[in-house]
Amino acid sequence: MDLHHRQTLQQLDAAHHLHPFNDNAALAKKGTRILTKGEGVYVWDAEGNQLLDAFAGLWCVNVGYGRKELGAVAAKQMEQLAYYNSFFSCTTEPTVQLSAKLAELTPGDLNHAFFTNSGSEANDTILRLVRHFWAVQDQPMKNIIIGRHNGYHGSTVAGASLGGMKGMHKQGGLPIPDIHHIDPPFWFSDGGDLSPEEYGLVAARRLEDKILELGPERVAAFIGEPIMGAIGVWIPPMSYWPEIERICRKYDVLLIADEVICGFGRTGEWFGQQYFGFQADIMPIAKGLSSGYIPIGAVMFNDRVAGVLKEKGGELAHGYTYSGHPVCAAVALENIRILQDEKIVETCKNDTAPYLAKKWAQLGEHPLVGEARIVGMVGALELVPAKPARTNFEDRGKVGVTCRDHALNQGLILRATYDSMLLSPPLVISKAQIDEMAEKAWKALDLTARELGMA
Ligand code: PMP
Repeated sequence: MDLHHRQTLQQLDAAHHLHPFNDNAALAKKGTRILTKGEGVYVWDAEGNQLLDAFAGLWCVNVGYGRKELGAVAAKQMEQLAYYNSFFSCTTEPTVQLSAKLAELTPGDLNHAFFTNSGSEANDTILRLVRHFWAVQDQPMKNIIIGRHNGYHGSTVAGASLGGMKGMHKQGGLPIPDIHHIDPPFWFSDGGDLSPEEYGLVAARRLEDKILELGPERVAAFIGEPIMGAIGVWIPPMSYWPEIERICRKYDVLLIADEVICGFGRTGEWFGQQYFGFQADIMPIAKGLSSGYIPIGAVMFNDRVAGVLKEKGGELAHGYTYSGHPVCAAVALENIRILQDEKIVETCKNDTAPYLAKKWAQLGEHPLVGEARIVGMVGALELVPAKPARTNFEDRGKVGVTCRDHALNQGLILRATYDSMLLSPPLVISKAQIDEMAEKAWKALDLTARELGMA
């Protein structure tokens, strides 16, 4: 793209486009980066730079960029029937086929799909329908949902309330009533002298304490991400989720696993629950469902919850114009076909993810890295002022941004959350591309350390 055109776009963007999760005044001064093309694990910007996207867009481009089949099914469906709703006792073939496919693919008896446009809307749907589930069983007071501090469940009113991001709560008077939060399981900063497995149990039992404090007759559900993504890929010890599941069963609290990031192969299993060994009653999904090619999300409900909603729920006073959109459903189906036919999840689990884990551990040897954590194709490097202590920089976030910018200058996209460098590449990343990522990340770490006067 020529310089003049790029600058014109940047000026128009600064004048007319408010960017999500950005300081828009600062961004307008700096100018946005305009992305123009994607192929495999690479994207290109308007200056012609080729970047290895080790963050898969926003944790979502699981099959990689540029898959023509996805465009082809979208075009075909648009020509045949671009839209119809699922309100007026109607449906379309892709919507039905996708519901059945998801019932087959998802773990346990999560056999019933409610379609949304995003992960946030999936969590709004959950808030309303979970409360409805208990109300129609004569337990309207069982309406509290417990989430976790620093959890992320989206940016709508319910999503941001269920999440535990303080900065988000500050804007708009959140959380809404009857949502509570417990401390998350993050051994690195909270585990003290306990082993990770011991700590996992301690962290899970915070849920039991909270349920007893509020009264089990008040607690409708618990929601958590199998791996806490947005806050910095906080991976719980293996003891955590089975204990959470035991506690939920004991007090008849519905268990919601937010698989918006973990779903569709991110952990090397199809769903995060399969990696951690537990079974949810309700599961929001989005992102990898369509590999980000088109907006679509869903909530999967198990037989018990869907059964009550169907038998006792009366008219479901909830839904979106685009719930089950036929074009989005067709793209999601084709995306799942690609993941299955090309054995992309299995290849990750057995071949590329173990290779990536080795490379990631090597990056963990860098003097700036206090912990290199990873599961499947999602990981983080925790940048620290000194090893081996598990402490953060005082001015949190500065070093992370420096390192992210050095990575970008090397042609590598990593995300920085505070001082965690986050990795979540397309699942199709090859071993050679993993090598390229690791080399560039090491260089970025070196340059950051030099800037800090550490090297
Ligand atoms: N849940 C989780 C776990 C997420 O990571 C996200 C998005 N990063 C969401 C929900 C919200 O999804 P969306 O941005 O599609 O609304």
